[in-house]
Amino acid sequence: MSKRNTVKITCPKCKKESDYLIWESINIQLDPEMKERILNGEAFLFKCPDCGNEVYVNYPVLYHDMEKKMMIYLLPDDEKEIKSAAKFMSGMDERSAGLDLSVIAEGYSNRIVTSLRELQEKIYISDAGYDDRIIEIIKMLYLGMMAEKTPDKKVDEILFDFGNDGEHKIIFVEGENVFASVPVNEEVYNDVQDAFKERIENNPSKYFIYDFAWARSLLK
Ligand SMILES: [Zn+2]
Repeated sequence: MSKRNTVKITCPKCKKESDYLIWESINIQLDPEMKERILNGEAFLFKCPDCGNEVYVNYPVLYHDMEKKMMIYLLPDDEKEIKSAAKFMSGMDERSAGLDLSVIAEGYSNRIVTSLRELQEKIYISDAGYDDRIIEIIKMLYLGMMAEKTPDKKVDEILFDFGNDGEHKIIFVEGENVFASVPVNEEVYNDVQDAFKERIENNPSKYFIYDFAWARSLLK
């Protein structure tokens, strides 16, 4: 089941208030077009009916892929919100009752992210057939390598990406510029998977947040 809701949005340009349809949860088997709209950002775009001004709206949404057994909660970066969502994802919250609890069961990957970019990245990683936890560890290992190669660069972001040729890679971003990319090959992936299997299983994130900080804590 997907859930929608109408909210009032005030256009930052003409200051007129209009209705805007937001999604509380998206089941991409039931609303498959929404996956593309998340990946291209359209799902979060508000176009003012009065003046045509376009602006991105941040709102919390639960992304649910039944086939991949994956739920990703996009939330504001707020401790209270994250704790409450984590409770929900553990199936210990009354809000869970609204969903079919049989699907929030064994074998599900639950994730919490705090930006649209992270949500998109998690979807790309899953589409590539990878485990995001292993990708986060690879990012960190590659960062160590990059720090030696390009010590003058400031790394603002490290992201999983598809090239135009479909090649999977880790890109390094300074400001808006991608200054380096390293392919994720099967050998590296399998090596990391083997080497970190136990540590990954023994260190689940309390709040379902599997990011760079989690990977770093794993290596300590
Ligand atoms: Zn307007």
